[in-house]
Amino acid sequence: MLDQRTKGFLEDALKGDRLITFLVGAGLSADSGIPTFRGKEGFWTIGSKNATPQSMGTKKMFDVNADEVWRWFLYRISICEQAKPNLGHIALSSIEKRLGARFALISQNVDGLHFRPESLVNNLYLIHGDLRYMRCADECSKALYPIPLFFREQIRSRETPLTFEEKQKLICPKCGEMTRPHVLWFDEYYNEKYYHLETTLRVAKSTGLLVVIGTSGATNLPQQLVAKTLSRNGVVVDVNPETNIISDKLRGLAHGHHLRGKSSEVLLAIDGYLRERGSELKT
Ligand SMILES: [Zn+2]
Repeated sequence: MLDQRTKGFLEDALKGDRLITFLVGAGLSADSGIPTFRGKEGFWTIGSKNATPQSMGTKKMFDVNADEVWRWFLYRISICEQAKPNLGHIALSSIEKRLGARFALISQNVDGLHFRPESLVNNLYLIHGDLRYMRCADECSKALYPIPLFFREQIRSRETPLTFEEKQKLICPKCGEMTRPHVLWFDEYYNEKYYHLETTLRVAKSTGLLVVIGTSGATNLPQQLVAKTLSRNGVVVDVNPETNIISDKLRGLAHGHHLRGKSSEVLLAIDGYLRERGSELKT
């Protein structure tokens, strides 16, 4: 599962003292049955019209139809709450225990699966937000409020309506305005305040080996993280069954590599490699 080149890069990184960082995307959670919501599974019907995920997940849509955007997100939250972490999530938790302070995880996933007891990761940066939280749509403060358990414990279908009582649970407790899901929308930009933009770029600067897993690299920050790591002589390995924007960039580079493989299988193999090498679990 791990080829010689990847093993060599891992070996070099372990001898060094810089971070070994994992950047993961939707491909990791696909094995848990969570769709990307960018394709047909993200389509949403408003009245007689079909809306694309790229139009539903926007500030623009929220400003004109907050109820429908919330109904779409509550459906997604319900799917994520019912999903279970897969072997890839669990392997990441084990890898962190073996690498200790040299481990970092940067995740594009908003599904909360890095927070379950069996897959818990501590040194984690969520760059697209977290579906388990909401925040004031008017930004009266930068506080995050947990999505009420009422919504997280129920199974919602695409057809479940949003009742008046439910809307009351989605009101900002501080100012009384509507809240919004704590996620980066398609028509918004990365920032430090909610999405750790500068912090993760600093992490990339301190990274000796960046393993990119299950992301198409279509958004801007993952590409910046790759570029920043390479600019500081770090190595980048892109794990993906297909070629993508990132593997195209790495082609022919001495510090870059494309490892074809499935997210969970490669993560298990990395954990197994560390175990064989004698990296004992530290906790
Ligand atoms: Zn507020």
